[in-house]
Amino acid sequence: METEILDGYEMEAVEKAAAIMKSGGIVAFPTETVYGLGAIATDAAAVKKIFEAKGRPGDNPLIVHIANTDMMKDLIDGDIPLDANLLCEEFWPGPLSMILPRSRKVPDAVTAGLNTVAIRMPSNTVALELIKAAGPIAAPSANSSGRPSPTTAKHVFNDLNGQIPLILDGGSCRVGLESTVLDLTCTPPRVLRPGGVTPEQIAEVIGECEVDGSVLRPLGEGETARSPGMKYRHYAPGGNVTIVKGSRKRMASKVCTLYDAAAKNGKKCAILAASGNRSLYGDRKVRMLGNNIQEQSRELFAALREMDDMGAEEIFCEGTEAKELGLAYMNRLGRAASFHVVDADEREGKRQ
Ligand code: AMP
Ligand code: MG
Repeated sequence: METEILDGYEMEAVEKAAAIMKSGGIVAFPTETVYGLGAIATDAAAVKKIFEAKGRPGDNPLIVHIANTDMMKDLIDGDIPLDANLLCEEFWPGPLSMILPRSRKVPDAVTAGLNTVAIRMPSNTVALELIKAAGPIAAPSANSSGRPSPTTAKHVFNDLNGQIPLILDGGSCRVGLESTVLDLTCTPPRVLRPGGVTPEQIAEVIGECEVDGSVLRPLGEGETARSPGMKYRHYAPGGNVTIVKGSRKRMASKVCTLYDAAAKNGKKCAILAASGNRSLYGDRKVRMLGNNIQEQSRELFAALREMDDMGAEEIFCEGTEAKELGLAYMNRLGRAASFHVVDADEREGKRQ
């Protein structure tokens, strides 16, 4: 199969994508978070094709994307709860997925057999036009399972060329990290995956919001995942990733020490750093991510993919404070690093 890339801002391209979906096919499309790989949400056979193309484990459910709140009524069991109403007024369209009890119209293939469904209204205009033309779309990120999520059409093409008929190109994704996943079926509501809408912002609207403990650490033995996506190593480039956290100068000095030791052992090394820290690394190989957490989040997945393109074997990343958008950033980086974190502020030889 030839994979075509068309400009998503052309109405004809959107119509072509909708027609493919209506005849049971799958299509990649841009959203403000990352690119999605979509099928019509009520078409179980089409949804299964998504899992095949990505190599995604069947127990990891998909998010259903809608273009207006009327579409939501059909997908959930019962009325829209008050908290959900408040949150969609405040944050939709935008990077927040809400987990609610599902209706019978949502096939098991979408929810991985769970009795809940995750729903989101994206703000990207290409995505909204496609959903209006095709109906609710079930979609995970449009990467091969385990690889960093795609934030450009080219990333999707590199992973899925030959496996899908069409990619709608909408340029680079504005947020660059996947949506916040909020479970509204428990009290208090709980963030299972942090994203562009922060727990702090959610708590402001509905009064309280917890963050699942697995967000910044691996699941313990015997601990069950509340969101199946939590179980897998994710977002990872081929090389080893090490996060170095701490105050600016100590962090940079630790990164340099680790880099030089690995380089001496013949390893190809690279550093992911805030642009303002470039000068702290001398002539070492640095991929700058930007000047603030928004820019760094937008660039992270593209940078991790570049690490593979250059064949980096040891990748040292600056950590950042895990609050607000920094929580989502550190969650993704943590998974890419299999939670390997070095604290530069900890004294050498300190005993636990
Ligand atoms: P992806 O689109 O690849 O970012 O994956 C969607 C994310 O939403 C995964 O982490 C899923 O585990 C999560 N998710 C989707 N539906 C549910 C649900 N019903 N319950 C818990 N987590 C969900
Ligand atoms: Mg994904």
